[in-house]
Amino acid sequence: MLNTPRPIGILGGTFDPIHYGHLRPALELLETLELAEVRFIPCRIPAHRGTPQVTAEQRLALVQAAIAGQPGFVADDRELRREGTSYMVDTLASLREDLGQKTPLCLIVGADAFRELHTWSRWRDLAKVAHIVVMQRPGASQALPATMAEWATPRIALDAAVLRTQPAGRILFQPVTQLDISATQIRALLVRGQSPRYLLPEAALACIHDQELYRSPFVENSVNS
Ligand code: ATP
Repeated sequence: MLNTPRPIGILGGTFDPIHYGHLRPALELLETLELAEVRFIPCRIPAHRGTPQVTAEQRLALVQAAIAGQPGFVADDRELRREGTSYMVDTLASLREDLGQKTPLCLIVGADAFRELHTWSRWRDLAKVAHIVVMQRPGASQALPATMAEWATPRIALDAAVLRTQPAGRILFQPVTQLDISATQIRALLVRGQSPRYLLPEAALACIHDQELYRSPFVENSVNS
């Protein structure tokens, strides 16, 4: 496998805000799967929820603050530069254009997001461009909705080494330390005037305080489609 480039991890999300529930599993994947890097890609306009209260530029700045100094972690602003709803299938196509056909791409998703994958735009095409790495709670069930089981089963990789043998197309369930932290919880704490300290990096929290983000209750708009 001497000539195969190391895989690149892609962690997309709203990052509203980024927190340790994203960062710790991403670091474990970087090291365990020997990824060349993990790209954090904040969406501009999320497909599955209303437009966030905090702008995409502010959410990107929180990502940049959170990952600063961590070798192998990269903030990628390509979705901010694209008009319209941010669909991951388009993001992967643009990464493939930049990185060439040979580099294995690993789309990283939480187990909950994976179970909803069949609701993503052109979801079957995702595996044509990238592998999918599911951040799995150790011991958690891998049961899938019927709509996905037939598609996913033949693609499941039992060994991470398989991800290096082809550029796309396999699905790996990888155990990671899962931290029961969500951006929703952090936003709710901030609205109540309580501290989310120790749930996210201090540098990101400092940006939130400096820019007075997430201070007021926010009713999300209807989902974009
Ligand atoms: P929200 O609470 O606003 O819905 P979130 O905390 O789930 O946000 P996202 O930015 O929507 O964060 O998540 C991006 C990706 O990270 C998704 O694939 C999601 O499944 C995954 N993820 C989020 N939180 C965790 C966590 N605590 N552990 C593992 N994966 C997570």
